Amino acid sequence: MKALAVDLGGSHAACALVADRDVVAVEEVPLEAARGLASALPAIADALRRAASRAGGSPRDCAGLAFGFCGLVDSEAGRVLSTNAKYDDAPSLDLPAWSRDSLGLPLRLENDARLALLGERHAGAARGEDDVVMMTLGTGVGGVAMIGGRLLRGKHFQAGVLGGHLVADFEGRPCTCGGVGCVEAEASTWALPALCRATPGFDASPLAGCDPLDFEAVFARAEEGDPVAVAVRDRCLRVWAAGAVAMIHAWDPEVLVIGGGVMRHAAVVPAVEAHVHRHAWTPWGEVAVRAAALGDRAALLGAVPLLEGP
Ligand SMILES: [Zn+2]
Repeated sequence: MKALAVDLGGSHAACALVADRDVVAVEEVPLEAARGLASALPAIADALRRAASRAGGSPRDCAGLAFGFCGLVDSEAGRVLSTNAKYDDAPSLDLPAWSRDSLGLPLRLENDARLALLGERHAGAARGEDDVVMMTLGTGVGGVAMIGGRLLRGKHFQAGVLGGHLVADFEGRPCTCGGVGCVEAEASTWALPALCRATPGFDASPLAGCDPLDFEAVFARAEEGDPVAVAVRDRCLRVWAAGAVAMIHAWDPEVLVIGGGVMRHAAVVPAVEAHVHRHAWTPWGEVAVRAAALGDRAALLGAVPLLEGP
């Protein structure tokens, strides 16, 4: 099956033609999430046509368009339900009508993290697995679940998709979601500068001169032995590991896939794995902890299973 796919991120949209387990052609469209989605749709449609043309075809060769959105979505009606400071006009848009009118294709809308899990299961680190949790470490923290081969969605489409908003510290930091001490409020790229500044000794640490103050900087300074960077790094590793155990207790997976840019630091997967094997209550055996295999192509490769699925 061929499909068109859109993975909408905070700063760009990846627009692709995929054929089963291959991204055949991809076009990147730079975007500003603060300007909304409606004004970006013509450029996204053009990029999808270009991707199809580079692959030697047209949108009409495809079974449909899979659209991954960074928010809560009603995947049955194809409507965005709620946003978190990105593309805030999206709930007012009729994306299936836009796809029909501009591309001649049916559209399936899904949360981007769910789409990435479908991709890792179709072509990546979770091939052949039916019970999978995927945790994504990046600007925020994603946590999504598949149980018995089906994405967990729930009555209000928010089941199994808010793993980053499980609570790691009930007396912790305010989160963008309205919660307190969520995993992503305690350990994510957006939370990191405030976390560093709140760590004793920050002003005298080389971290104070880092711009941007991101996980690249923290992991590099920690390897050089800076005690503030070591403290921040180790606390974040414990937060992610605690989040992983909470997701495992909630959703009963056999495989935990860890994705996102931060995962590429060598310490992350082994630290989470060791904590999970020590602390998760799984009397049937050990949850396999694996690094994601598809990087930023995971959501695009979720297109075919999304369009084929129930
Ligand atoms: Zn939260």
